[in-house]
Parts: sequence; structure tokens; C-alpha cells
Amino acid sequence: MNVADSELMYGKLAAHGYEPVDLPDGADVILVNTCAIRENAETRVIGRLGELKRFMKPDTIVGVTGCMAQRLGPRVLDQAKHVSLVVGPDGYRALPALLDGARRGEKFTATDFDLEEHYEDVVARRFEGVKAWIPVQRGCDYRCTYCIVPTTRGPERSRKLPDVVREVQQVVEQGLSEVVLLGQTVNSYTDGTHDFADLLRAVGAVDGIRRVRYTSPHPNDFSDRVIAAMAETPTVCEHIHLPMQSGSTSMLKRMLRRYSREEYLECVARMRAAIPGLALTTDIIVGFPGETDEEFEDTLSLVREVRFDDAFMFKFSPREGTPATRMPPEWTIPDALVAQRFERLVATVRGISRENNLKRLGDTTEVLVEKVARDGELLQARSRDFKTVMVPADSARIGDYLTVQLTGTTGATFTGTPVGDKKERVPLPMATL
Ligand code: SAH
Ligand code: SF4
Repeated sequence: MNVADSELMYGKLAAHGYEPVDLPDGADVILVNTCAIRENAETRVIGRLGELKRFMKPDTIVGVTGCMAQRLGPRVLDQAKHVSLVVGPDGYRALPALLDGARRGEKFTATDFDLEEHYEDVVARRFEGVKAWIPVQRGCDYRCTYCIVPTTRGPERSRKLPDVVREVQQVVEQGLSEVVLLGQTVNSYTDGTHDFADLLRAVGAVDGIRRVRYTSPHPNDFSDRVIAAMAETPTVCEHIHLPMQSGSTSMLKRMLRRYSREEYLECVARMRAAIPGLALTTDIIVGFPGETDEEFEDTLSLVREVRFDDAFMFKFSPREGTPATRMPPEWTIPDALVAQRFERLVATVRGISRENNLKRLGDTTEVLVEKVARDGELLQARSRDFKTVMVPADSARIGDYLTVQLTGTTGATFTGTPVGDKKERVPLPMATL
């Protein structure tokens, strides 16, 4: 979501004559788009803001945008004197005007929510050359007791289906063929007339679109209509990221997730019955207040039962103002125990994902080449079911669909050998940086 927001800001500023630079050295404007989900994310922003000082010219304007800006508001200006703009997720439209003001020496905090704001008239300038992030819903109406998002992004609202479809058509015109629909509980999408099932079918039917993904859905919003739409729309990929957070019903209750272990499993069963070859990934929190050994074991056993393909795992981080911070202090789990549980969870998840991946060796699958891999030699590609596959090929192949045979796995990622290369080429968009 933050990448998508950065792309909107870039689009808005580009329309006002701003040009991007590769490095912060001597930039006229530096915006740091921030996350507030865990303390760690905010600590990194503070470090980054400090580092940026050495790149500033005397007249460089530094702004902090996003969820941390929304959460801290004017406190950012007090703590970092070189910052002159603090702009929350609904304030990006005003950026050019705020920058003009900052150039006159003024300081601004813009943190009002605007429930109508979807930036419909702002044309995003995309950083990625292969897939497009498309926000379809902003904010969140759930109130999970650990989570800061409802405070930083405000109430849930959805874009109109025709507006989303129009953006997807533009994405195709720019030469992209994969879209990722974004929302905090994206499958609760409703524009008053259409639900998420309608949206999946409409986006999936756009001419030139070859892959549709979405993130993150909430287990409670998986109606049979949504699952059927997914199963029946060939462009929608066979992968669901389904955050579980915990495998214990009592813990899920304290988290106010609004489903039980059994309901989560039932949701998984409905999905797997409808979509053959479905890959499932998830989010899990360890060390939430009051987590007993038994509750943690329930999380491990749910991981084993579902056999996730992968998981994002987090140590609980208390966020100011959230209900979890008002739980009895004696419920706090000591750091050492959290660390121990976290390690066990990581080992369990990685072990299962390794076993799953070993079974896939020898399979042939279609991948979309995304970028040069970190080692600088292989290319990094993605299968429809979200597996990372390293492919030996020339960087000119970025943006191509290749058929590869999975020949090796580290346990987490694969290496693949192209087979029956059809030289299919999707042109890169003009806006690629
Ligand atoms: N809207 C999405 C999640 C967005 S935040 C959903 O409900 O699935 C991404 C993930 O960060 C969450 O799924 C959760 O696992 C984790 N997270 C959120 N708040 C956290 C906190 N206070 N401490 C640790 N992890 C947290
Ligand atoms: Fe946070 Fe829960 Fe909303 Fe996800 S659904 S953004 S975890 S409050």
C-alpha cells in the first residue's frame, strides 16, 4: 500500500513539474513515506531522517508522509527540526501547494481524513516495471486490538468499480499485464453496487490482463461468491494471502479478529475445495499479551494443519493508543520467551515450506520475470502461485512470461530452467525508473 501511495505522490508531483532523482544528494525535495505498523518500522524512519540531513542543501525541503506522519502529526516537527511537512495518507493531493508553502519557510501538518479521497484524478507514476499495485479500498473498519491501521488510515472506503477497471486498462496500455488489488480487508470491498466478487471478475476480464492478485483479505469476508469468482476467473492467480495471526480461539478473541480457529480452517477448506493447486500464505503474531504456552502450541499446530506455503511472522509490538496496550501489564510476555517462540515458529514454517517446495521439483510452471536477482546474475521470477524462481536469462527478458522447469530449491526459493521458450514479450512501460 505504501508503494502504491508513493507512486501516487510521484504522479501528483510529476504533474507539477517535479522530476525524480536516483539519489537524495542535493534533491530539492525529499519525502520519506512511512509505516507505523510496528515500532521497528518507525525506528528505522527516525534513523533514515537523521541520515538524510547530510544530503540536504540549505533549501532542501524534507517531508514525512504516510502512517507515522498521521500518527505523530506535529510531534514529528518537534522531534526533527529539519522536517517541514508532515502529511498523512489522505493529504497527498495538497503536496504541491504544501511544498510551495514550505519553500516560503512555512511548516505544515496535514493529517485530516478525507473519506472521499481516492486520488481518482491523479495518474500514478509506477516504480515497478512488471506489475501494478492498485489500491481499491482505503482505511479499515476492523478493530484488531493490536493494530494501529484504523487510527492511521481511517475508516474503510472503496473506489467505484468502473474507476478501478479504468486504471487497470491504463496499466495494460502501459505494457503491464499483472495487477495486485490492494486493501486492508480487500475482500470486504463494496462500492455500494458491486462487491469484491464483481471486482475480481471485472478486473480479470480486462483485455490484456494476464494475472490478478490481491492482498490482504480477511477470513470473515470470504463469501462463496468471492471464492467462486476467484475459481471461475482464469486470470486470478491460485494464491491467497490469508492472515491468521494466531491458531488459538481464545487468543483470536483477545485480538478481536472475529473468527475462531475452526472458522479459519473452514474458510481454508472452502478455498481449497474450489481452487485446485491453491497456495496459501499468512501473517502470524507471536507474543501477544497473555499468550500462554497452550495458545502458542495452537498456533504451531494450525500452521502444521494448514501447511502454509510461507508466512510473514512478527513479534508483537505495542502501538500507542491501541486496546492491546490497555491489557493488564502482567500479560506482557517477556522478550526472551517471545524470541524463543518466534524461533520455533520460524523453524516450523520454514520446515513445511521446504517440504512443500521439494515436492514441486521437476514441475513445469509459467513465471513472469520481475527483476535482476540480488546476486546480480540470475533473474527473479514469480509463478502464478507466488513461488520465487531464479532463472538464468538475459536481463532483456524482464517483463517476459517464461515456461520453466523447477530444477532446484533452497527450501524457500527455486531455480528454474526455461523450457519451450516462446519469446513472448510484454513491453516495459514508459514510466519505468
Ligand atoms: N489488514 C491486514 C494486515 C495489515 S498489517 C490484515 O488484517 O490482514 C500486516 C500485518 O502486520 C498483520 O497481519 C499483522 O500480522 C502484523 N501486525 C499488525 N500490527 C502489529 C503489531 N502491533 N505487532 C506485531 N505485528 C503486527
Ligand atoms: Fe489492522 Fe485488523 Fe484492520 Fe488488518 S483488519 S488493518 S490487522 S485492524
